[in-house]
Amino acid sequence: MTAWTVRPDGGRPQGRVCPHAAALGPESAPLSGACLECVARGRHEHRLRLCLTCGHVGCSDSSPGGHATAHHESTGHPVVRSTEPGHEWAWCYVDEVFLEPDCGRRPA
Ligand SMILES: [Zn+2]
Ligand SMILES: [Zn+2]
Ligand SMILES: [Zn+2]
Repeated sequence: MTAWTVRPDGGRPQGRVCPHAAALGPESAPLSGACLECVARGRHEHRLRLCLTCGHVGCSDSSPGGHATAHHESTGHPVVRSTEPGHEWAWCYVDEVFLEPDCGRRPA
């Protein structure tokens, strides 16, 4: 699994912490390869976010559906990770901070 830490340039005041990152368990496998809410509406959205709590896959806020945010609002699951190639970041909705892989700390 990947351990996550708050990104220094997260656009937030220094010292911002995210208690959710440390509390995340092993990353769930994605439940689907697409945003199922969009697929049900005949759309195929590529900008996807993976819920690190349950593995739900939803489209990003920059997509028409914004289903990843809708999932957070309906479940309270705090952290999503981008699944786009080359995107090494996650986002905590609660603390509004970007997270990055914590390379200095090896998961137990
Ligand atoms: Zn957080
Ligand atoms: Zn969607
Ligand atoms: Zn979830």
